[in-house]
Amino acid sequence: STVNFALVGLGSLSTNQIAPALQTTQHAKLVGIVTGTPAKEKIWADKYGIEQQNIYNYDNFNKLSENEAIDVVYIVLPNGMHKEFTVRGAKAGKHVLCEKPMANTSAECREMIAACKENDRKLAIGYRCQFEPHHQHCIDLARSEKFGSLKAIEAGFGFKIGNPNQWRLDGKLAGGGAMMDVGVYALQACRYISGEEPVSISAQETKTDPVKFAEVDESITWTMKMPSGVICYCSTTYAFNGINRYNAYADNGWFGLEPAYSYKGIKGKTSKGPIEHENIDQFAAEMDAFAKCILEDRESTVPGEEGLRDMVCVDAIYESIRTGRHVELPQA
Ligand code: NAD
Repeated sequence: STVNFALVGLGSLSTNQIAPALQTTQHAKLVGIVTGTPAKEKIWADKYGIEQQNIYNYDNFNKLSENEAIDVVYIVLPNGMHKEFTVRGAKAGKHVLCEKPMANTSAECREMIAACKENDRKLAIGYRCQFEPHHQHCIDLARSEKFGSLKAIEAGFGFKIGNPNQWRLDGKLAGGGAMMDVGVYALQACRYISGEEPVSISAQETKTDPVKFAEVDESITWTMKMPSGVICYCSTTYAFNGINRYNAYADNGWFGLEPAYSYKGIKGKTSKGPIEHENIDQFAAEMDAFAKCILEDRESTVPGEEGLRDMVCVDAIYESIRTGRHVELPQA
């Protein structure tokens, strides 16, 4: 059986990755769209056979509550809109899959989790890497202590951002810069490889173009200390291409991925040889997994709480930059 998805926001990711992935999924099916651009309605309807009664815009979005043909709304809007549309989706009785980063702040994440709980809806975040076999292999190597006990993780992700007028450089719509957009991949890798939550974070920001990056961060380096003593060295940037990796160092060897966070072409290596797996469609895997959670009434393995844990760290990273101090984090 299938779970019916509506895509909310038909930008680059929806167009080039998610809709094509939905042509290959087993349990998730594309049946609806929500767009603020009327011209896209016919294009998408023709291309994907979307019925007129399953086409919405941001104004009549709440009317989804009257549409039983749609089970899930997948929020693929600018970060600053995630909270509003997750809450409205839950109130309309829909399960919500929300893109990363979950929201602009941890406070917003808490509101989203509460709204989904109140309406008895499931919430998952678009953490595609956790469904990817090379990443899963590294998690297994860490948990099984194949190379002994973990000592350090080095992780980074960045790229050179183009168009100065895009929402990714707008403080309200993006919630932050490179850190929010791609730094979260490195941050999260440290969390799922170590299996721990940081107790202390220290961060520094570098800005070479204060005009382009007037509202958001350009480059950040940060360190995190885990309760076991594992140290994480991390970086993110919007200033240049190339850093896209993590390596984990243990008592008797190391393992890691580079490129790590791409849609395809992920490569893994250990001190004892390569990590070999097929590259899969991560979006298809992520959506099928959420669909199965709904069909089997299970919690997602990447629930709102997982998004919240990342955003608690991101808030601490920005606080550390603002205050120039280490930020200590309480352990749950
Ligand atoms: P995009 O700019 O290509 O698309 C954004 C969409 O939102 C557009 O269709 C735009 O029309 C719509 N929109 C509605 N209101 C808007 C407003 N006020 N300003 C700007 N756009 C508005 O962006 P994208 O790359 O598709 O990213 C969308 C979301 O997906 C972001 O949260 C991003 O972090 C996430 N994303 C995730 C991955 C991943 O690998 N999981 C990759 C890319 C993007």
